[in-house]
Amino acid sequence: MRTLDQSSKLKNVLYEIRGAALDEAARLEAAGHTVLKLNTGNPAIFGFEAPYQIVRDMIAAVPTAHGYSESRGILAARRAIVSRYEEIPGFPHVDPENVFLGNGVSELITMTMQALLDEGDEVLIPAPDYPLWTAMTSLSGGTPVHYVCDENNGWNPDLEDIRSRITDRTKAIVIINPNNPTGAVYSRETLEGIADIAREHSLLVLSDEIYDRILFDDAVHIPMATIAPDLLCLTFNGLSKTYRVAGYRSGWMVITGPQKHAQGFLHGINLLASTRLCPNVPAQHAVLAALTGVQTIDQLVAPSGRLHEQRDITWEKLNEIPGVSCVKPQGALYAFPRLDPEVHEIRDDAKLVYDLLVAERILLVQGTGFNWDAPDHLRIVTLPEARVLGEAIERLGNFLSSYKQ
Ligand code: PLP
Repeated sequence: MRTLDQSSKLKNVLYEIRGAALDEAARLEAAGHTVLKLNTGNPAIFGFEAPYQIVRDMIAAVPTAHGYSESRGILAARRAIVSRYEEIPGFPHVDPENVFLGNGVSELITMTMQALLDEGDEVLIPAPDYPLWTAMTSLSGGTPVHYVCDENNGWNPDLEDIRSRITDRTKAIVIINPNNPTGAVYSRETLEGIADIAREHSLLVLSDEIYDRILFDDAVHIPMATIAPDLLCLTFNGLSKTYRVAGYRSGWMVITGPQKHAQGFLHGINLLASTRLCPNVPAQHAVLAALTGVQTIDQLVAPSGRLHEQRDITWEKLNEIPGVSCVKPQGALYAFPRLDPEVHEIRDDAKLVYDLLVAERILLVQGTGFNWDAPDHLRIVTLPEARVLGEAIERLGNFLSSYKQ
């Protein structure tokens, strides 16, 4: 029989959040062990219930949502998305024609990269990043070029580093704000600096804002499109995090700014939207329910709220571990602690994650899984109850105190 290999297109495609360690976790669970899975930002498995209104409206839609919809998505949902952005001061005008719904933001990232990139085109992506951006750039034949986010400056992107990486093949810049995995919320100064660079070099701006309402303390999220209304900007968002219905697979993308020069690319987006026929139609009705209904995330991120408390305990407990430091996350659902290489000599952070899983039954993701170069960071999901997180981080500390590679 002829051997079937994976295609060469997948050579540089990595997604370690659901990588090899997850298989080992499944094996441990099958053997009867309980594994604390802190690898995915999936609110549902940590007792976050789907808002009742969304569930109710989605169920109500099912009997009549059995046909394909328009490829971009149902008009009522696209209009609800337009209204959401009309409420944000300074957000440029959005036409419903420029709104695309997707089976999660993930599908829209894939579509965008496939429509945009030719072999060797370069995309600037943060390091660390949410790795789907890098993976889909590679799959689409592009070259991911990582710019550094500065841990000593609240993980804000380093503007000089961005500038130094621009070539005549650079087509777009990706911004993830609030950031996964660091929890950073970018300052106005940083965003203006990025917009200046994009202006100078005619870059397409791709702004992933899926955590825009998950903010702590006095953090303020500034949508990139408000900073760069004069640039072609694609803003990504969806229901997985703020509305806690990740399993419904429902996201959107809005296009703002000048379009005349980008007709070919936009035609490509429309073409790919047609080839996927349409996103799951009942989940499009969930968008309508979410955006026109009561939003309850505010209570969870408030100082008395569950997400706030969990962020606090994670950050405090991590910083208590000798040789571990963590920048306080200002948003999103993660912490990205650093293991001081002088104290913890880690050569292979994937092995560290594997060994921690086997010894403690706790599943984290290694920093290199987020396209961070050095094996000196881990990502922890801050979704479990504070007590569970506190205990898990204490066990991580005990484990690290005697761990050697
Ligand atoms: N973008 C970021 C920054 C994410 O963290 C995630 C999921 O964790 C996604 C996109 C994908 O979201 P969706 O569930 O909408 O596909």
